[in-house]
Amino acid sequence: MSLEQTGCLWVVATPIGHRDDISARAIEILRHVTVIAAEDTRHSRPMLLQHNIDTPLIALHEHNEREVVAAIVRRLEQGESVALISDAGTPLISDPGFRLVRAAREAGIRCVPVPGACAAIAALSVAGLPSDRFVFEGFLPPKSAARRSRLEALAGDLRTLIFYESSHRVAESLADMQDVLGAEREAVLARELTKLFETVIGEPLARLAARVKEDPNQQRGECVILIAGRGEEADEKLAEGQRVFAILREELSPAKAAKLAAAITGASRKALYERDSG
Ligand code: SAM
Repeated sequence: MSLEQTGCLWVVATPIGHRDDISARAIEILRHVTVIAAEDTRHSRPMLLQHNIDTPLIALHEHNEREVVAAIVRRLEQGESVALISDAGTPLISDPGFRLVRAAREAGIRCVPVPGACAAIAALSVAGLPSDRFVFEGFLPPKSAARRSRLEALAGDLRTLIFYESSHRVAESLADMQDVLGAEREAVLARELTKLFETVIGEPLARLAARVKEDPNQQRGECVILIAGRGEEADEKLAEGQRVFAILREELSPAKAAKLAAAITGASRKALYERDSG
């Protein structure tokens, strides 16, 4: 498709850290469109100027998306070309843009992806976890009760789980993950990808949760958490956990027995406790 294509919505990925992680095609398109719809114009302007892009910007964020979408679709219908970008990475991936793309497609406007960086995919590519099947869950709920129930719904999933998390919640999220998914479940924390302090740590959930809790540096910057899907060894662990739990349960409360059985066998404390109470 030529750059002169009018009435076209280009959905353009921008870097997630390293300034050069933007394609030559993306730069060309951003230079040639009539207008760039950006999540935060003040944030994007410096990145665009680094690549000699001085195309006019309009703001499109979650608070004005409904109103601005209609105006952008009108411009597209009049033959203008518009690019959509977000603060970082691929628009629509835990970022605004879904309503614009849907409205544009409904209006018969051609929407063209210009692919590039995405933190979830970048993290998966270096995590060393199975990548043939995975599920992207975006951000977990900020409150622990809602977060735990979302994790419970995912506990039996065989696919690798990918989450975005803010740095100030990463420690508590990992603690909930350990509790709900089990101490031994393989996990990877991918932080500050493509940036100066990039770190990728892979450990069983209990070790990773403890390390992050103890080290404030691991609670800084941007991060992706990846968790291996439930493996067959988890079923074996649960069976062993249940055996130990049944013995301890004769002397202890369900909560104490589940805690000890989980520590001894690596089975999920929650799974043991719930099987007893349910
Ligand atoms: N659209 C973006 C993408 O394609 O990845 C994601 C936007 S979402 C609002 C921001 C979240 O993505 C961050 O809170 C973090 O979880 C993750 N993220 C973005 N950049 C990252 C980076 N350089 N390293 C690790 N995680 C990152």
